[in-house]
This record gives sequence, C-alpha cells and structure tokens, in this order.
Amino acid sequence: MDGRIPYNRPHVVGRELAYISRAIAAGNAGGDGEFTSKCATILEERFGIERVLLTSSCTASLEIAMLLCDLEPGDEVLLPSFAYVSAANAVVRAGGRPVFVDIREDTLNIDEEQLEASITDRTRAVIVIHYAGVAAEMDRIQDIARRRHLFVAEDAAQAVNASYRSRALGSIGDVGCFSFHETKNFHCGQGGALCVNRSELVGRASWIRHRGTNRQEMLDGRVARYQWVELGSAYALSEIQAAFLLAQLEEIESLSDARHELVQQYRSRLEPLEREGLLRLPHVPSHCQTNHHLLHLLLPSPEIREGLRRHLVSRNVSAVTHFEPLHSSSYAIEHGLFRSELPVTDRVSARILRLPLFYELSTAEIERIVGEISAYFHTRA
Ligand SMILES: *Cc1c(COP(=O)(O)O)cnc(C)c1O
Repeated sequence: MDGRIPYNRPHVVGRELAYISRAIAAGNAGGDGEFTSKCATILEERFGIERVLLTSSCTASLEIAMLLCDLEPGDEVLLPSFAYVSAANAVVRAGGRPVFVDIREDTLNIDEEQLEASITDRTRAVIVIHYAGVAAEMDRIQDIARRRHLFVAEDAAQAVNASYRSRALGSIGDVGCFSFHETKNFHCGQGGALCVNRSELVGRASWIRHRGTNRQEMLDGRVARYQWVELGSAYALSEIQAAFLLAQLEEIESLSDARHELVQQYRSRLEPLEREGLLRLPHVPSHCQTNHHLLHLLLPSPEIREGLRRHLVSRNVSAVTHFEPLHSSSYAIEHGLFRSELPVTDRVSARILRLPLFYELSTAEIERIVGEISAYFHTRA
C-alpha cells in the first residue's frame, strides 16, 4: 500500500531555529521582546490593524475579547454553532450566555439574515467565524452591530491573510482573533494574536493579557510599579515562540502562493466530480479573497461522507470531519443552551469532509487522493 498521507504536516520554513537561538541569546525569552514586536509590526502593517497583541492562542484572544465586553449574568453573545469550541468557552468564561445562530449554505458562515432576529435586549456581542478563510458578510454584520450597539469579535483563526472587499479579515470588527496553531497557514506550534481595531480598547486588552496588571505602563516608564487593575491571565506569547513565528510571517507571500497552487491542483481534478453532482467544492464569493485554509468537500448524504472517509482512511489518506455542532453538544444540553434545531448546521456538519492540505503535499499525492475519491464513487455506482 502507498505511504500514509496525513491530514496536516506542520511546515518549517528554515530560519526558525536560528531566530530561536537569537531570542535565547538576547536573555529575554519571557515575552514582549524584539521578536514579538517584529511579528506585531508585520501583522499591523500588512493587514492595517491598529494594534496587534501576540497571545498564546486564538483561544486566549477570544477570552480577552469577551472579557473586554464586561458581560453581566444573563448577557447574551451570538455566534454560529458551526464553530470551534473556543468561541463558546470564551463567552461562558466571561460570564455570558452563548446563543447559537445557523449558518449560510454557501460559505458556511453565520447567516447574517438570521442575526437580527436573534437579538434580544440582553444581546451584547457577536462572534463571527470566517470558515476556511472565506469571509462572513461583514458589511451587513457591522451595520446590524452598529445599529444595535453590539461588540463584534472576528474569530479569524483560519483567516490570516484573507480579505473581504479588500479589507483584511481580523481588521474589521472591534477585535479580531488569529491562530498560529500548527494546523493553520502560518504557525509557531501554538500561538495567536488579538487584533485591536479601536484604539480605546488597547489599554484594557493589554492589562488583561498581562495577568490583569498594568505592567506594560511600567515597562513604558509611565508608572513606577505595576499592580492588579483588571481580571486577566497569562495570555502573552513567549519570545521563543515569537522567534519561530517571525520566520513564518516573513514568508507570508511565498507560503500563500504555494497554498493557492495546491488548491488549484485539487480543484481542477475535483471539478469533473462536482459537475457530475457527486460532491461540492468550497464556495468563495467574488468579493472575498480566501487564504485557502481548507479544502473541504460537501457530500450528498451523511452515509456517503462516512463511506468516503472510511474508504480514504483504508487507503492511507487521512480525511477528517469538522465541527461537531455546539448547540446540541452535551455541554449545551446540560447547561440549558440548546434552543432549537439549526438545520443548515446539522446538515453541513454531517456531510463535510476535509482533505489533506499542507505545503509538502505533492502533485502525485493530490492525484492519488482524487483518484481514490473517484474510485469510491465509481465502484459504488
Ligand atoms: C483553530 C481554531 C481556533 C483555536 O485556535 P487555537 O490557537 O488553537 O486556540 C479557534 N477558532 C477556530 C475557527 C479555529 O479554526
């Protein structure tokens, strides 16, 4: 049997170790040194973000985002159920109540037309997810949020270097949350960033990130001693990880081109199967520029999804499902968060399958994967 093709293989660009050595030699591995500052500057300049604070994960960034909202018991935050669990955890940890909204059939992002109907006098914020690096309908969402005074957090974990009407994802809401986990397009093993898009939020976000203290003001020479000023945690990224990350961020352009090329190779080979009606490829509206984070298929039924997944695994190809719906999870049911069925979410999560996608994937491997998909359909028929 041919060699195993994993779902993901974390990429190394080559300068990571050299930069880590420099971070260690500089005698400040803790955080907020030269490498953190360089990474933040690249992200701020490239994406037009007021202020980027590097964090230990997108999960941490989402927690800071929700702490910024000063939620009170009973306050509600809208988010899709087709989401990673971090967004819902962040709401609950900050004292709020997640309210789940269904998604659109095409982009698999929160359905902006259902958003307004879900707003009550307790709604304080909305978390949008840009699935697979394809933007949610931000103009409409921002318009609703402005009229109804809601805080907007973008979970842009999958959307670094993707845009919506020429604006970088993560730079549009009040805050944006990036992930640099090893499964994402650019990584440092585990890391993230909080994009703060309103200058008046920078101070508090920085306190929350520094264990709830004003330590940054002391480092900037504005106060003599730092003290406890907020509810916070240890959310900063270490300089060792920032050094790794800088090597990757310096290659945003070449890595993005390589990913685009891989997806084109997949698409040209899968399109005939899509035309036969056997599967659906990711939809990218013309005003959204994707970063090609995922190559996912939508299959006609849960049985075909499971059959194809098992076939691929039996042929040594790791294809994986995505996002168990949050609204019907055991946590949601135990904590009274289940409100109603969300039909699109349920349909999509039972039919979606993600194919291997990583920078070292070869054309021959893509051909082998598509060949196995084709074989599955054509031996079933
Ligand atoms: C990966 C991911 C996260 C979590 O990111 P971490 O950096 O691992 O905390 C959150 N949301 C979405 C949509 C993700 O894909």
